[in-house]
Amino acid sequence: MDDISLLTYSNSTKRNVQNLQKAYRKCLKWARTHGSRFNPNKSELIHFVGRKRKPYRAPITLEGEKIEPSKSIRLLGVYLDEALSYKVHLEVLNTKVPALLAALRSITSSTWGTTLEAARTLYRGAIRPVLAYGALLWCPEDLEKAKGLSKSLQSIQGRFLRTITGAYKATSIEALEIEAFIEPLDLYIEKSASQGIARQALRGYNSDGKQFREALRNRFRRRRRPTPRTSLPSPRGPGEPEKPGITEISAAILADKSSEEYRTLFYARWGKYRRALEAFYATKWKNRWGKSDKGRDIAIYHPHPTKKALDLYKNRPKPFSSMLIQLRTRKIGLNSFLKSARVPGIEALCECQKEEETIEHFLFKCPRWEEQRVILNGLKTVKEALETRENSEKAVKYLLATKRLE
Ligand SMILES: [Zn+2]
Repeated sequence: MDDISLLTYSNSTKRNVQNLQKAYRKCLKWARTHGSRFNPNKSELIHFVGRKRKPYRAPITLEGEKIEPSKSIRLLGVYLDEALSYKVHLEVLNTKVPALLAALRSITSSTWGTTLEAARTLYRGAIRPVLAYGALLWCPEDLEKAKGLSKSLQSIQGRFLRTITGAYKATSIEALEIEAFIEPLDLYIEKSASQGIARQALRGYNSDGKQFREALRNRFRRRRRPTPRTSLPSPRGPGEPEKPGITEISAAILADKSSEEYRTLFYARWGKYRRALEAFYATKWKNRWGKSDKGRDIAIYHPHPTKKALDLYKNRPKPFSSMLIQLRTRKIGLNSFLKSARVPGIEALCECQKEEETIEHFLFKCPRWEEQRVILNGLKTVKEALETRENSEKAVKYLLATKRLE
């Protein structure tokens, strides 16, 4: 017998333990009549108590074995702590990142996977699902309000994005998300959690889940009377879309889940919901990017998130993509940026002594590169030079010909 969870709730941990012992005895009885047995010393106990101050947590005795409560447990691969917060899960997630990064690096540095596209596919298909695993259980309903968690997730994604794109550390994560067309990680994870809840609802488990979530939530409101959660949507700002809801399936149809009727309805509602959810989170990203004061150098090319961003990097070798993204984000090893990044011993002035070595100066004005400038073929502005696939190829060729970054 493997992996059985017993769950109960009441006002005291002592009462909970009594309930659990009662339930355990029932299980034992069942096991005996089914030629099965439990292993009490492998059992774990946790009290989900929120952040209540009282330190005493009742232990439990099963078949004479005393089990002290743990501070956190692993359940189906998700780490839950006493406060049912995401903290322990996030800590564990962070410890997984270096190995995942190393895997991504080793694959993308091999000969066949040297493009941004390949790294992007790998991240989205194999790494991101690991990061989002079990989101249904640990992700707060409105992740945007859990600022600390959102930030941590963003910085995790930032590490992968720098590996995928070859951008400088100083480059804003928001800009790299747009360039690689990968939505912010907090939005992706919140979306995964919503999908999980919707699937539960379509299987008819919504009211059980809701009841339990609400009971827990009320428990966590420290020194406050329990308040029932209203189902009113949180206030939206202008231009903010409404989060789609799932339409539950009637009990009559749910009664026979093997029926054609149930299956048809399930897929129809699920498909509709998923499309609505995709649109909802796409708008969220678009609005966030529109309001962001970060990554503005990229906003001149892409005022909205768009898949077209990838056209520039299609079938380009990784060094090409890295150079292009460094030019476009203006985080590149020219003196002007290095000075602003406080690299010791570097002044912003160009070696030609005429002015600061900015992207404009480097591409169009510096007298040191007059010979190479024919490659640019009359291009005049940074936007013009870096916006299209054709022109950006010239810009990168020019950069290579000057050997300025070698
Ligand atoms: Zn110069």
